[in-house]
Amino acid sequence: MGLIVQKYGGSSVANAEKILRVAQRVIKTKQAGNKVVVVVSAMGDMTDDLITLADQINKDPQEREMDMLLSTGEQVSIALLAMAVHKLGHEAVSFTGSQVGIITDEFHSKARIQNISAERIKKALSVGKIVIVAGFQGQTPSGEITTLGRGGSDLTAVALAVALKAKHCEIYTDVDGIFTADPRVIPEAQKMDRVTYDEILELASLGAKVMHSRSIEVGKKFNMPIWVCNSQNNHKGTLITKENKAMEEVVVSGVALAEDEAKITLFRVSDRPGVAAKVFQTLADANVNVDMIIQNKTQTNSTDISFTVFKNELVKAMKVVKAAMKKVGATNVTCDENIAKVSVVGIGMRSHSGIASKMFSTLAKNKINIDMISTSEIKISVVVAGDKGKLAARVIHQAFGLGKK
Ligand code: ADP
Ligand code: ASP
Ligand code: MG
Repeated sequence: MGLIVQKYGGSSVANAEKILRVAQRVIKTKQAGNKVVVVVSAMGDMTDDLITLADQINKDPQEREMDMLLSTGEQVSIALLAMAVHKLGHEAVSFTGSQVGIITDEFHSKARIQNISAERIKKALSVGKIVIVAGFQGQTPSGEITTLGRGGSDLTAVALAVALKAKHCEIYTDVDGIFTADPRVIPEAQKMDRVTYDEILELASLGAKVMHSRSIEVGKKFNMPIWVCNSQNNHKGTLITKENKAMEEVVVSGVALAEDEAKITLFRVSDRPGVAAKVFQTLADANVNVDMIIQNKTQTNSTDISFTVFKNELVKAMKVVKAAMKKVGATNVTCDENIAKVSVVGIGMRSHSGIASKMFSTLAKNKINIDMISTSEIKISVVVAGDKGKLAARVIHQAFGLGKK
């Protein structure tokens, strides 16, 4: 008897009817001869609604209390799904992250899983129960509730699949699988049958919110096959797996658009060793994630440094950068929230050239100015004006022939 971990995202459990439909799917999987562990997200937009509610009370809430609040969303879903399974005449039990021993570090709002004991899951499975676990949450060794970052239920699912030695992990969402671009932004995008961990890892960290990027890191590390499928139909989804020869032939496999970053610029910073280290150390100390960085020498003894951070960390980032301004001799610091990052990803880039020039000339033809550029072995990202992001993604997607024929 094999074990399967299924995860249902917010849209798949958005109302009572959908929860009953998920219960049917889960029961069917069990009846096909599998042990089933189900991870669920909060219903619909509940997490966003809770964030709005908190914001109405305190603009700068303590992260501990935020995690206490947001973790309740998933607790609602697990209880309701267990009730739905019971209603259909089968045995199920729901658990919070803490109850199944998901231990994380103490970084509230983006905690990392350190260990999973899963004793209670194994025990419940051994007596034939369907086990339903709250996604997105864990607890620190001292018992504080933490959350794993937005979209973190994917990580709970893949980490549990690894811990329980599942056959594979199934991620159910509101699209048929992983597409060459976000199908909501680019309707011509096509579903991929397979994609490598490396490609989806880049796509996810570049803004394709279809999967939480750390969930893919864990999947890759332990070679756990991950299927991404639509919870509303039985179409074959996308398999995330390690690469093979045929996959390398595809030069560009997807385009991602991120509109959740902002740019900070420090002007006329002293041009001497240790200055950049100081700026980015202060940001690291404040636990702010920095993405793209560029440095431009403007005068003989000073440089401008620009970098991007997530919009939801902009206030915190500006606070620490302003505090560090004097130490690095900067004359001014500004921020710009009107930016978008567009990226192309493909493992074939390792062995093919000319991708950057094609991307840049496509943007030029469409009169889109490039503000920042960064590259890795398998991706090229550009920052453009925020209101040009969608257009840029669409023309690049087309230029690389990714759309439906
Ligand atoms: P869930 O609530 O199930 O976790 P998400 O909203 O987190 O669902 O992820 C699914 C959404 O991801 C889709 O509705 C789609 O708009 C978006 N998305 C972004 N990029 C892609 C992509 N390359 N392929 C598929 N979906 C994508
Ligand atoms: N409910 C959380 C969120 O909206 C976690 C998740 O859905 O995976 O980010
Ligand atoms: Mg998600």
